[in-house]
Amino acid sequence: MKRTRLRPVSAKRRKVNAERAKVVATLRETRRGCEGMALLKAAAHNAPQRDQEAYVAALRACNPWQRYLQPHEPLKRSRRSGGLADPDRIMMLCDSCHAFTEAEVRLSTEAGMLIPSWRG
Ligand SMILES: [Zn+2]
Repeated sequence: MKRTRLRPVSAKRRKVNAERAKVVATLRETRRGCEGMALLKAAAHNAPQRDQEAYVAALRACNPWQRYLQPHEPLKRSRRSGGLADPDRIMMLCDSCHAFTEAEVRLSTEAGMLIPSWRG
C-alpha cells in the first residue's frame, strides 16, 4: 500500500490556526445566535418571487440557538490572505445556514452570506 505523508502545517499557519481557535471561542461567547437568520430574513423580504421559497426553507431550517455555531468566512479569499483569525471576517452560523452557503452559492451571495472575491 502506498502511503502519502500528511501535508505538514507551516509554523506560520500553525500560529494563525491557534489565534483563530481563540477568536472563534470568543465569538461563541459574544455573538449569540446564528447570524444567518437576519440575513436570510432580509433576503427573503427583498428576493424575487422565484427565490423566496428557498430563503423561507432556509429560514425554517435555521437553528439560531445551536450551542456551537460554526465559523464561516463570507470572503473566501480571506482564507488565503491571513484573515483567518480576523473576527471581522468571521460570521457565526448554525449548521444549516453553513450548509446553505455551500449548497446555494448564488442565493447566499445575494443574501450577503458570501462575498465574491472581486468585491472584497
Ligand atoms: Zn442559521
